[in-house]
Amino acid sequence: MKNLILIAIQGAGKGTLAKELSKKYGYVHISTGDLLRERAMVRDELGDQIRDLIDQGKFVSDEIIFDAISDKITSPACQNGYILDGFPRNMTQAVGYDELLKKVNQDIGIVIHLTVPEEILESRILGRRTCLECGSIYNIYSKDFCPKVEGICDKCGSTLTARKDDNLESLKKRLETYHEVTKPLIDYYKNKGILYEVESVDSKKTLIKVDKILEELGD
Ligand code: AMP
Repeated sequence: MKNLILIAIQGAGKGTLAKELSKKYGYVHISTGDLLRERAMVRDELGDQIRDLIDQGKFVSDEIIFDAISDKITSPACQNGYILDGFPRNMTQAVGYDELLKKVNQDIGIVIHLTVPEEILESRILGRRTCLECGSIYNIYSKDFCPKVEGICDKCGSTLTARKDDNLESLKKRLETYHEVTKPLIDYYKNKGILYEVESVDSKKTLIKVDKILEELGD
């Protein structure tokens, strides 16, 4: 099973797709955003620093990110394949990741670039609700992803919350950062011949398209 890197602007459905693929194929889902949010719950200097950056829609330092993912990707659980959701996010991370893979003799796998028209991003981001207990993701503006009972997780009954960084100001900052520092990754992986573009408007169709790519690659 080839490892996957998901690249997309926030709100494009990376998390939802990663969850579906890990359910279906057994990939380990590594979300740097989730790892950081977990670390940010710890009330110490590093936790406070991470929380502030996330809330403002700014990047956390590359050093913190590498600390968070290095042990994960070399763990026995990941040896059957993993999905990177939210990493790499800039060229320094992409080059550093190549070096890390070389050191541990692991293959990069393939990169899926999820594209989404910017006009639908706003409702995706502002309508997103997450269950902190089981990680399920909902959207209050979508009839397919709306929870059955407002504010309550269908799966475990816990309270749903909006992420603090899911607001218009933070979205604007994240869009700027994406265009400036994340987009160059697309050319980088295109030149390596491992990039696949998938439009992500309807999550079911997105999954079918990614399934087809994996099938064609023999995964
Ligand atoms: P996400 O859940 O992927 O939307 O990430 C939430 C936030 O975590 C981002 O807005 C950043 O502040 C931080 N973050 C996640 N992944 C990275 C990364 N690879 N590099 C820097 N910051 C990151």
